Amino acid sequence: MQAPPYAESVGRRDDGDVTSPPRQELVGAPRLLLVEDEAELAEMLRELLTEEGYAVDVATNGQAGLHRGLVDRYDVVVLDRRLPALDGLDLLGRWRRSGVTTPVLLLSALGNPAERVEGLDAGAEDYLTKPFDVDELLARLRALLRRHLDHAHVLPLPAGRLDVDAREVLGVGAPIGLSERECELLTTLAGRPQRVFGRDDLLALVFPDASNPVAVDTYVHYLRRKLGRGVIETIRGRGYRIGRCPP
Ligand code: CA
Repeated sequence: MQAPPYAESVGRRDDGDVTSPPRQELVGAPRLLLVEDEAELAEMLRELLTEEGYAVDVATNGQAGLHRGLVDRYDVVVLDRRLPALDGLDLLGRWRRSGVTTPVLLLSALGNPAERVEGLDAGAEDYLTKPFDVDELLARLRALLRRHLDHAHVLPLPAGRLDVDAREVLGVGAPIGLSERECELLTTLAGRPQRVFGRDDLLALVFPDASNPVAVDTYVHYLRRKLGRGVIETIRGRGYRIGRCPP
């Protein structure tokens, strides 16, 4: 069967434009990708999930879903298992091998225990059998989302918060993009807010290729320049700690 090589999008379409303003409003609206080929079900779920406050994108075949998940960032995915163009389990395997860690709820008509195990083994976080109760779907999505956020993909900062996956600081006006190293340094510090990290610790943790702790100081400087002096505290004679008060 020839599948339509497209994904429909609801809400916003600003692929590739990571600095565009909508990003921030979406901090409050979790981004959800729905990969479902049954048009009626897809439409029903899209309406339901949009009403529930999700920013929903819909992909109607496996290839389109794969592409979406690779180029865009989502907070949670609802993935049908039987899809044209690319099977749901294959799609999921490809995402996981590409480092996509977004939690996935797999939808399937196949409900026997072996199928369920197969789905979870492929990297799904949860599994729901069709036909399903929409309240159960919504409850499970909320649980997935909560666990996902608890896993420190978003860390509080003295001002705003760090979206680790997006490498952006949010909640302080326009999103502020960070380089990979800046983000790693800030993630390390913000992940353990009580701890004072010595320069040598940070060098080993964040700059394994560098030998001089000046690299640490340099990146602390970059971060303070972008985010304000107070984002990182210097603890004299000991090292650095994430800041305690807004800069
Ligand atoms: Ca299907």
